[in-house]
Amino acid sequence: MSKLRFRVVETAFGKKAHELEKTSQRPSEFFGEFVFNREKMFKYLSKKAYERLVDSIDNGTPLDRDTADAVAAGMKRWALEKGVTHYTHWFHPLTEGTAEKHDAFIEHDGKGGVLEAFDGKLLTQQEPDASSFPNGGIRNTFEARGYSAWDPSSPAFIVGDTLCIPTVFIAYTGESLDYKAPLLKALEAVNKAAVAVCHYFNPDVRKVYAYLGWEQEYFLVDEGLYAARPDLLMTGRTLMGHESSKNQQLEDHYFGAIPTRVMEFMKELEVEALRLGIPVKTRHNEVAPNQFELAPIFEECNLANDHNLLIMALMRKISRKHGFRVLLHEKPFKGVNGSGKHNNWSLGTDTGILLMAPGKSPEENLRFVTFIVNVLKAVYTHNALLKASISSATNAHRLGANEAPPAIISCFLGTQLSNVLEHLKNSDTEDFILAGKQGMRLDIARIPELLIDNTDRNRTSPFAFTGNRFEFRAVGSSANCAAAMLALNTAVAEQLTLFKDKVDKRIADGKEKFAAIIEVLREEIRTCEAIHFDGNGYSEEWKAEAARRGLDCETSVPLIFDAYLREESVRMFETMGVMSRKELEARNEVKWEMYTKKIQIEARVLGDLAMNHIIPIATKYQSSLIDNVYKLKELFPADKAERLSAKNMEIIEEIAERTIFIKEKVDEMVEARKVANKIGSEREKAIAYHDRIVPLMEAIRYHIDKLELVVDDQMWTLPKYRELLFIR
Ligand code: ADP
Ligand code: MG
Repeated sequence: MSKLRFRVVETAFGKKAHELEKTSQRPSEFFGEFVFNREKMFKYLSKKAYERLVDSIDNGTPLDRDTADAVAAGMKRWALEKGVTHYTHWFHPLTEGTAEKHDAFIEHDGKGGVLEAFDGKLLTQQEPDASSFPNGGIRNTFEARGYSAWDPSSPAFIVGDTLCIPTVFIAYTGESLDYKAPLLKALEAVNKAAVAVCHYFNPDVRKVYAYLGWEQEYFLVDEGLYAARPDLLMTGRTLMGHESSKNQQLEDHYFGAIPTRVMEFMKELEVEALRLGIPVKTRHNEVAPNQFELAPIFEECNLANDHNLLIMALMRKISRKHGFRVLLHEKPFKGVNGSGKHNNWSLGTDTGILLMAPGKSPEENLRFVTFIVNVLKAVYTHNALLKASISSATNAHRLGANEAPPAIISCFLGTQLSNVLEHLKNSDTEDFILAGKQGMRLDIARIPELLIDNTDRNRTSPFAFTGNRFEFRAVGSSANCAAAMLALNTAVAEQLTLFKDKVDKRIADGKEKFAAIIEVLREEIRTCEAIHFDGNGYSEEWKAEAARRGLDCETSVPLIFDAYLREESVRMFETMGVMSRKELEARNEVKWEMYTKKIQIEARVLGDLAMNHIIPIATKYQSSLIDNVYKLKELFPADKAERLSAKNMEIIEEIAERTIFIKEKVDEMVEARKVANKIGSEREKAIAYHDRIVPLMEAIRYHIDKLELVVDDQMWTLPKYRELLFIR
């Protein structure tokens, strides 16, 4: 077992925290300790079982029953040595986060005792009673049950006393009920399409991987203060709270020193992550006070996504050991930056080529430009869908606000790459193809030096090229990255397929291969010019300009979801074999329902807090002022008393006006909810919540925040922003 130890220390708030004791162990010694990785497979499996399993992982060959049994036996032996007692199929339902149902290894041994049992069947398939997971109507409980099936491409791992087996979750009728199944299909689609295009340049490429490097932003708050904020507790964000006099104006938090208490949390988190094989690398403060970021080294997309979900779970658990709560919500505090999860995405081959990175030879650079242009075109064609893929009730607070990507998808390329594409677009094929020794000369050989200059960065772009990858920045901090990744990879797969068809047609007509590629690229650059925008994405002018360009500018989340059901989206998902129309329809039902529920909970919590915290406190304070006014009247002559109590009279009146307003709006909100709840269609209901409830919540909050400024601080029961936001 590991030599790592944590000792319990007192925090400033009298809470116990765990501090990592000095250890001589290096990360390389415990990395992947709790993962059934290839090293362990080799150790715990027979040679034959090992080879079959590796073949299944690398090439998708189905596992036969004997191999599954052998793998299960090896896995069990390893797990028992680690003190594990239970196993679970770990899956990603359409709610956020992950789901698991734990079963003990024990079985009757037939002699009155029990033994530890775990076979291939239990490893590869399980039927969780999952009628309570959202399924958008697909899995009618009477006719079809859901089952989970092992995804051997994600290694099993141990958390606590439980062996976790990553699985897909599907209905017996075949429809996916989770995020993992369609993600795996999307990755397969992009692999197939990209390999075919790679073959124009490198015939030996056999596989193309999609890579994902996520950057997880989060807030920490003190657990004691968190417990005193019912809104944080129940919705993950503050539904009220006036801005602190100091927040992020001085820009002193970003890259500043990390507070000791936070550092202890980070260290423990990193150690646990490394033991689970998550290659965490970067940690730093973020822009807002109490905001931090954690990023690993990028990995294959499916694995990276499992790791992100695991990290979020670890953060929740470990933060509590340090007297914190982690906030993964996209906008826990109004007026300070929200949290995102940049998805750094690229494609790479089994021969070690990064397809989004320029190369050394003209041919390599043509390949590079080919992939870049196809990504641009895919993002252009499906910009509305990509926005839908990152949209949620919670991310809506971040998008379109002044510090985050706008609710419009565009691509940033930087000056050099823009120049290369511009040049390619405007020149004749003949400029590029000149008969030479190799039969061609491409004028784009000079890209590498140019692109190394990484200073050319634009923080306002939702989808930016950053040297050897694209950064999809609009993804929300609490999201399952799979939603964005499956949309993006499918869109790119479709575009690469269409591109190849066009090129092949020209080749069949007798065009030289590279000339055909350049010709089609030029055409594609022209058609998707609208998606390219290097300017300030936060500006008002961009909104108007984007609308003129025909980019999707919808801001209402329930309407943004419609993009999933547009004909071009359904066609894309169906032809790429990722999702059927039925699945897309069902998923949208779930999305609308989730949207409604989130707003519904927030509205209830806000209504309760307004009525039983804010109004009573404000009224109590107002009574003490009234009392004061009467007393001044007793003490002083009438005209003097009037003068002396003028200020208090104003506050008394202000409190009265605001509390009346709040009460009226809360009543109105209750009525609006009743009306909305009667709507049968999930879509229409979500629209009603967006159009009717959300504005009322904002109006109520405005007046509550104003009251916070006038009511006696000692009476105000909710911790304020200035307390929540500064960890000492
Ligand atoms: P930033 O300057 O945006 O903070 P970092 O250097 O911290 O960038 O990297 C962010 C993430 O991008 C990391 O997870 C890193 O591993 C990942 N990354 C780097 N190169 C690639 C690539 N080619 N494909 C996918 N992810 C990548
Ligand atoms: Mg980044």
